[in-house]
Amino acid sequence: MTASSLQDTLRTLPQVEELLQTECLAQLEAVLPRAVVVEAARAAISDARNRIFDGGSASPKDEIALSAASIALQTAKPSLRRVINAAGVVIHTNLGRSVLPHSAVKAVEDVAHGYSTLEYDTQSMARGSRHAHCEQLLRLITGAEAALAVNNNAAAVLLVLTEFAKGHEAIVSRGELVEIGGSFRIPDIMELSGARMVEVGTTNKTHVSDYANAINQNTGLLLKVHPSNYRMAGFTEAVPLKELRKIADAENRMRSQERETQLNAAGPRGLANGACPDDLLVYEDQGSGALLRLDCFGDYAEPTVGESLRNGCDLISFSGDKLLGGPQAGIIVGRKDLVERLKANPLARALRLDKMTIAALEETLRLYLDPERAKREVPTIAMLSATPEELEPRAEALAKAILSKTPNGSVNVEIVDEISRAGGGALPMCDIPTRAVRVEFLRGSAQDCERALIQHRKTPIIGRIKKDALLLDVRTLVDDEEIDMIAQALAEYLEGVVR
Ligand SMILES: *Cc1c(COP(=O)(O)O)cnc(C)c1O
Repeated sequence: MTASSLQDTLRTLPQVEELLQTECLAQLEAVLPRAVVVEAARAAISDARNRIFDGGSASPKDEIALSAASIALQTAKPSLRRVINAAGVVIHTNLGRSVLPHSAVKAVEDVAHGYSTLEYDTQSMARGSRHAHCEQLLRLITGAEAALAVNNNAAAVLLVLTEFAKGHEAIVSRGELVEIGGSFRIPDIMELSGARMVEVGTTNKTHVSDYANAINQNTGLLLKVHPSNYRMAGFTEAVPLKELRKIADAENRMRSQERETQLNAAGPRGLANGACPDDLLVYEDQGSGALLRLDCFGDYAEPTVGESLRNGCDLISFSGDKLLGGPQAGIIVGRKDLVERLKANPLARALRLDKMTIAALEETLRLYLDPERAKREVPTIAMLSATPEELEPRAEALAKAILSKTPNGSVNVEIVDEISRAGGGALPMCDIPTRAVRVEFLRGSAQDCERALIQHRKTPIIGRIKKDALLLDVRTLVDDEEIDMIAQALAEYLEGVVR
């Protein structure tokens, strides 16, 4: 195209005002905010212009108006909205991780709807602390001396490293230098905190002596990191917590002797410049952080937070919305003197929780006071522990609903043995047996249907494709209403398919 013919083609594009006067957009303006429609018109014209620059022809005005309408409708839809998880991944980070217990949702509504005791103590009738609401519960549940909750576990790790290892060294095994989904990398957080990372051991093996040899008077903490989704098998070795505790105790005895005999200035290990004034700490980033031991996971069950504290951790941090099954939060438990220092760090203010999260976390934790109640009422725990036999009736109800709503002869439906996943980096090797509904398409296709269920539904439905069939795992459905919604969506897809 020559420059002048390009100019001519561009001139055929409508102006924004002109486009708004088309019937289609004029109608839309009656129901959507004007700003949304105007912005969509601009975007559609800009798309049309780009197509011309790319060598395409000019789109007719009505076509541009139609695409503007579609953009406007998309913008008007809530961006963050509910989805139906039929993928069978319980702690699905992309789908919002944990579903909150009913009592937690109620508590959020209460404090959001009115004023609250967020930082007010009704007994003393004076200012209180927002940290108080969950601390006592966390102490009771884990046996820790003290606790603190911040924005998420990444924030918790940053806070601990900043307070106790900034300007000092933190020792971590090369086998635990992992990247966790969503680009959380220990070396990056370490750098941000101002701690110097000292890597020890090799990818597959780290020994007690590796830690012991790396310790000097400038070492602030020994960091243990849960390897999340990453697992090594075979010739591997990691140092258990109890051993790290022994190493730290030995070092701390030496430090306290040096302090006592005032040998710091020219002690047996030389200059005290930059020496860490504190005890050498053992800190574990537990990732998921199990509060209960779930027997259903057999050998895969991970040490609980309480067990790790008893095995010698000074501090442990973990997520609120992974295995715990509460809202997004990062929970730190451990020694009282250390937690008090964390609370006083200015970062704790920047990373603090809002009232709605505190309400949800407090109510979720309250359920753990009675472990049997937690297993029933915390959806994440209930979903993880459901057996295939318990899931069978729900799978049958879904299969039946699909068969009764969809056109005759459009699908084959059967209930099959499948595998669910915990997700969220928890129990990665654990295959959780489940019952799923397998839908084979005699009309349309599984891939097509999957796209329709995700892209075109107000409440998207996420399943799984396996061998040209759609698999719907009932483990992660939150109520019976979702069964009808899935059947209805499949019916609407199949009715729309031209044979
Ligand atoms: C998930 C995870 C994190 C990050 O926790 P968030 O709550 O998502 O910030 C950090 N460390 C480990 C080991 C994890 O598994």
